[in-house]
Amino acid sequence: MTRTADRDLTLGLATRAVHAGQEPEPLAGSVTLPIFQTSTYVQEGIGKNRGYDYARTVNPTRQALERNVAALEGGTHGLAFGSGMGAIHAVLTLLSAGDHVVCGENVYGGTHRLMDKILSRIGLTFTFVDTREVDTVAPALTPKTKMLFVETPTNPLMRLADLAALGDLARGRNLLFVVDNTFATPVFQRPFEFGADIVLHSTTKYLNGHSDMVGGIVAVKRDDLAEQLQFIQKSVGAVPGPFDCWLALRGTKTLPLRMKKHDENGRRVAEWLAADRRVQTVFYPGLPSHPQHDLACRQMMGFGGMLSIETGSLERARRIVERTRLFALAESLGGVESLIGHPATMTHAAVPPAMRQAMGLTDGLVRLSVGIEDADDLIADLDQALGS
Ligand SMILES: *Cc1c(COP(=O)(O)O)cnc(C)c1O
Repeated sequence: MTRTADRDLTLGLATRAVHAGQEPEPLAGSVTLPIFQTSTYVQEGIGKNRGYDYARTVNPTRQALERNVAALEGGTHGLAFGSGMGAIHAVLTLLSAGDHVVCGENVYGGTHRLMDKILSRIGLTFTFVDTREVDTVAPALTPKTKMLFVETPTNPLMRLADLAALGDLARGRNLLFVVDNTFATPVFQRPFEFGADIVLHSTTKYLNGHSDMVGGIVAVKRDDLAEQLQFIQKSVGAVPGPFDCWLALRGTKTLPLRMKKHDENGRRVAEWLAADRRVQTVFYPGLPSHPQHDLACRQMMGFGGMLSIETGSLERARRIVERTRLFALAESLGGVESLIGHPATMTHAAVPPAMRQAMGLTDGLVRLSVGIEDADDLIADLDQALGS
């Protein structure tokens, strides 16, 4: 039955979340997949093993997580890594020196840093563009461009990229189309349906959802890409430990349930903030005032719990993030508990100030990761923090 859940995409997402990748454990029939805390496996003879030789290459707990997330995204193969950055690094090492990547300018700060400060030193080249319009992406492509890398919605400005249009562009130019789906999760957006070749996540965020591990995962639906990525995964060795895989797998079982609540709370908080005169702008794709709300409705099934607000100044931003009581001031996002952050000095401090300014990532911007608490309590907390 669980073998079926891996491949049967007619099963609903919530069913796949609970069952995909998880076979009953043969020794005792344990309902929960065990944590295979081992570095190696007994072999029966020379060249004879059960498909498990060494735990950097393969681990049953990791495999279960990989199959589970691949099934959620509608892919055929998953590859887990020790962090979201480890996953992104693996995907970028599909390329060779001399290759060019076109990447969203408003991607996760760590992604920008990896490209600009590390991989550019070893021969890859990058152009960062506004991915809201295909018209600004297409001119950046050169004969050396091999990959188009986007996030949607972006962090923290909640800008959208048109996945169908970019998927067409990538297919026409024979580019690998990579989508970081960390914010939307497969519950609200499935990039493979729009032509993505590779979908990746920081499992640290919504997939695990409980703020108790760091991890990353890549999903693909092409055997050749799976093979190349498996080779990179075992050669580079940025693999997660079995306990972290087990935690992430426990998280994905409730992903559809949690996302429903994040979405409900996200909408309530966004609507309340949008009606409050103490806030200048609310960035949330679920609001009709969001400039790309129609696109959000076309390619997303929900809008989730991430939103940002423009408070007007560093002073006001500081006052709000230091005054909330339920919203904890912290980096990261996507956990059951609500968090508040200041992108310019926290998550996006690595982005050069001139670039931050050019994108509209101001010092007054405050980002919220709305958790699954009672929306009324969250709103009351923001109300007192905003002050008079
Ligand atoms: C957090 C994050 C990453 C990096 O993941 P880590 O698990 O922290 O390494 C990449 N992309 C997005 C959108 C993120 O939010």
